[in-house]
Amino acid sequence: MPGWADEVPAPRSAAEAAAAVDTDPVGAVACDDGEDGDGKGRYQAVYVQRAGGGQSAEGPRTVQRVLWDIDQTFEASAKRYAGFDDSRRPRMVQDENCRPSVMSVEVSGLGEEHSMSEVRDLAQRAVDEKVGGTEAEQEEWNSTHRKLFFYDTGKPDGCGTAGAPGPESRADMHSGWAEVSWGCTGESAMTHEMIHQFGVTHCDEDKSQGNDPICRGYDETPRCDGPRSGAVLDCGLDTFRYFHPRPAKGSYLAEHPEENVARSPYLMRNRPAKPVATSLVDQESGKCLAAKGGSPVLADCEGDGRTWVRSIGGRGYFKLKLAGKCLTRSEGGAARLADCKAGAAGQHWWMTANAGENKDGYQVVHRSGGDPVTVGGADTFVMRSA
Ligand SMILES: [Zn+2]
Repeated sequence: MPGWADEVPAPRSAAEAAAAVDTDPVGAVACDDGEDGDGKGRYQAVYVQRAGGGQSAEGPRTVQRVLWDIDQTFEASAKRYAGFDDSRRPRMVQDENCRPSVMSVEVSGLGEEHSMSEVRDLAQRAVDEKVGGTEAEQEEWNSTHRKLFFYDTGKPDGCGTAGAPGPESRADMHSGWAEVSWGCTGESAMTHEMIHQFGVTHCDEDKSQGNDPICRGYDETPRCDGPRSGAVLDCGLDTFRYFHPRPAKGSYLAEHPEENVARSPYLMRNRPAKPVATSLVDQESGKCLAAKGGSPVLADCEGDGRTWVRSIGGRGYFKLKLAGKCLTRSEGGAARLADCKAGAAGQHWWMTANAGENKDGYQVVHRSGGDPVTVGGADTFVMRSA
């Protein structure tokens, strides 16, 4: 089918190759070339600790990784509509290298056990202080930034929530917040809450909201099952859909553009995500995923042939390439490395994020589901600079 470009065009030189991939596995989010006050919405991640609570210094780095995973989920969701080669990525407050900036705040007066709303009130006050300026300036900032709160504060009484307006607000500038406790911190929970925050809800008793339109695999998701329910927005693509970069003329979202999350001013449109070069390191043994005789193997990380390129293909699936060969599910179910072919279902993967204590492990699952790819007993891999 014309336009179903499943492959990134081959670069013509090493320099071009270097420019075409991101070499930090906690890759860049969509580069924001605007600035505060330009009428666009931005996400500000906020890592919250209790003063004197002694939490991990790794927290903000973990949050950065979660934000990048979220960025990839939005992009994969836009790429599902392969005929358009569209891109949608959250516009995040970031540094000059387009790495998401995490605002780190401490709150005092909070017990080990506390409610989400208690910590949110304190965190919001701390954010206002960091933003600074007059009260009017703080108000202006808060009206154009959505806060993504990560509570590393002991025992908040919940997993995640979000301020969620009505469905007619999905594409407007409303700000507000989404929040997760540290135990629930990860791509899956925060993306779910971000979708709520656009104005998408679970089904009402009478199903008027659409039989669980969120569909993120985090709650019960009757609209679809299998790995895609946790991998993309709007997995069901049914009459309750809420995300389409270019809805067909006459379709519900074409007639109700205010209900289309893909039109939100908090998402950037023209910043396709680059492939990422990375080594895949077994979380347990520290060995690297390499290849021998066409099969993936665990090997010492020194040496050639350890650099994988992870990209989002034209249908939203992840592709994993090593030395020009694509990770492929063979008929028996085993993973091997084979010639890359556009549109080959065997080469379509999801990568589920946030495994392990540092939440930095990924599992590679075929689009049809089943057990994650397991090599030499290893099934959870950390992405590290190759
Ligand atoms: Zn929910």
